[in-house]
Amino acid sequence: LQPWAEKKVAPQLRISNVVKTFDGFTAVDDVSLDIYRGEFFSLLGGSGCGKTTLLRMLAGFEFPDRGAITVDGLDLLKLQPYERPLNMMFQNYALFPHMTVAKNIAFGLRNEGLGPDEVEKRVKKSLELVQLSTFSERKPNQLSGGQRQRVALARALIKRPSVLLLDEPLSALDKKLREATQFELINIQKQVGVTFIMVTHDQDEAMAMSTRIAVMDKGRVVQVGEPREIYEYPRSRFVATFIGSINLLEGPVIDFGADGSRVECAQWGGPVQVAQDLAALASHHVAIGVRPEKIRLARADDSAFAADNIAEGVVKEIAYLGDSMLYRVQLPGGLLVKVAAQNLGVWFAADEPVRIGFDASAGVAIDK
Ligand code: ATP
Repeated sequence: LQPWAEKKVAPQLRISNVVKTFDGFTAVDDVSLDIYRGEFFSLLGGSGCGKTTLLRMLAGFEFPDRGAITVDGLDLLKLQPYERPLNMMFQNYALFPHMTVAKNIAFGLRNEGLGPDEVEKRVKKSLELVQLSTFSERKPNQLSGGQRQRVALARALIKRPSVLLLDEPLSALDKKLREATQFELINIQKQVGVTFIMVTHDQDEAMAMSTRIAVMDKGRVVQVGEPREIYEYPRSRFVATFIGSINLLEGPVIDFGADGSRVECAQWGGPVQVAQDLAALASHHVAIGVRPEKIRLARADDSAFAADNIAEGVVKEIAYLGDSMLYRVQLPGGLLVKVAAQNLGVWFAADEPVRIGFDASAGVAIDK
């Protein structure tokens, strides 16, 4: 078990009931989070949800109206930005165009009172860390976007902060480079062992990189968990639809028990079985969330097709994605069900009658 699951060690960073308003508008609304040493923690949410404001309060560029923030028990709010044991890597990297790569990185050590030999040694090690040793005498405009990003990272890490704050670190890179850089960032983070806190609006990026994610909406943290937990067990409609794609089958809970529960779902054409015990939601109107890849698809006459929940429908739309196929299947009640199928060379045609099905364990109930 990871420390954040076990909760046996004290968190490194503790954000308690933090509120920040701008002219009466609440940008960050009573946020509390515990972040553990060595985590790659993401603040994820859409535009305006308050994630950047929260990061800026950690860095000391904004001051909360209420609440407390501590790092290793140290009251951050009593410290000036430059006194805090954190460093920030900015979205636009903020490199100095007239300085070489080595000078840009060494700039991170100003005010540290180190001798030139020590500075040189540290810069050399940093260049190795980000694999830019042969680029030390170049200027930023002689580098690719990915290389500039690594210089900014080296400069932010050279002071050996205990926490590094990253504001959309990959947003300036194109899609292909972004994927490669995700892995690089994770590797560097593991090597240095520094806690990373990253702001991003990109769900895939947060899922791929993070030990844990805090999903934010309208200034609040709406769910915190490991990527898998957030994807498999979204606790609200907002989280379910914000992260990945999902089908929502709605209706009242009609029975429940330790062996599973049933939800009457007219859109599906009858009761839907789920593995969860929905005793706590008895007689509530709920949505059963089912991810498209958990729904299987078969020919209408496939009598061997088996699943706990089966419906018949007609293929309406098809998207060919190379490694997978995305179908939209219309049920008699009008519901369009998204089905993602691995591309195994079996295809279904538009207007073809089909059967779709999913097992009770594939559905997760979300209270309305
Ligand atoms: P984005 O990804 O678009 O940057 P965000 O989730 O990072 O979004 P924030 O930048 O934290 O959002 O802003 C949250 C809200 O607070 C927004 O509505 C924004 O307009 C407002 N806000 C942020 N900074 C200020 C400020 N200095 N003065 C007034 N309002 C602000």
